[in-house]
Amino acid sequence: MPEGDTVWRTALHLHQALSGEVLTETDFRVPALATLDLSGATVDETVARGKHLLTRIGDRTLHTHLKMEGSWHLYKPGTAWRRPAHEARVVLRTEGWTAVGFALGVVEVVARDAEDTVVGHLGPDLLGPDWDPDEAVRRLLRQPGRDIADALLDQRNLAGIGNLYKSETLFLRGISPWRPVGEVPDLSALVTLAQRLLAANKGRWQQATTGSTRRGEEHWVFERAGSPCRRCGTTVRRERQGDHERISYWCPRCQAGEAPTGRSRPTLARD
Ligand SMILES: [Zn+2]
Repeated sequence: MPEGDTVWRTALHLHQALSGEVLTETDFRVPALATLDLSGATVDETVARGKHLLTRIGDRTLHTHLKMEGSWHLYKPGTAWRRPAHEARVVLRTEGWTAVGFALGVVEVVARDAEDTVVGHLGPDLLGPDWDPDEAVRRLLRQPGRDIADALLDQRNLAGIGNLYKSETLFLRGISPWRPVGEVPDLSALVTLAQRLLAANKGRWQQATTGSTRRGEEHWVFERAGSPCRRCGTTVRRERQGDHERISYWCPRCQAGEAPTGRSRPTLARD
């Protein structure tokens, strides 16, 4: 699942390739947009809002979301695609580039002045110009009894965090994924750290939170279940957690507070 930094970088690349360019051909391979043809229109810009992508074309906005498997690729004319053509959901051609959105979880076109209907629910965007840690904390505290790990993934609280940054941020702050939001000390420091981790990675494809981008050294606990904690040697654990059964990774010693029994299920101690 792509996180906010990946989406931010995708937006940047689409923006650099397409903005200011006239669309020579468009192909929307989703039923609702099958007859839409935006050729002749000029692409104004592509921006990221949390994990959402907004490509503004005249008075319309193409809204896409990568969800679990999606990706946008840019190809020079005549270049072979690196994913199967049947996975393509959107094709935007200009004179210099073909942009292909593969396996996108959301593809819709809305009036540009109605963007709020698709992204208006989002909390402050960690990588956006409107990033506001106080507002993120205020939103988190609306549900003080909720597990902090689950609350951090809720894009209505703050936008851009996925499983990787959730797990790594909680490790670095020494907070159990199961601690209720209302009992987390210094939520402001927590969201500020998450913002710093995303910002540090937005310019590169590799996502490192340890300071090392060497393969196998990039993370503290994420996807390290069964391996020793880099700080204390305790075996890193993983459990499914929350409304959507997303996986949490944590060190039971560095992040005091065990998973309450009955609220989680045992999983294999590996990735
Ligand atoms: Zn540890």
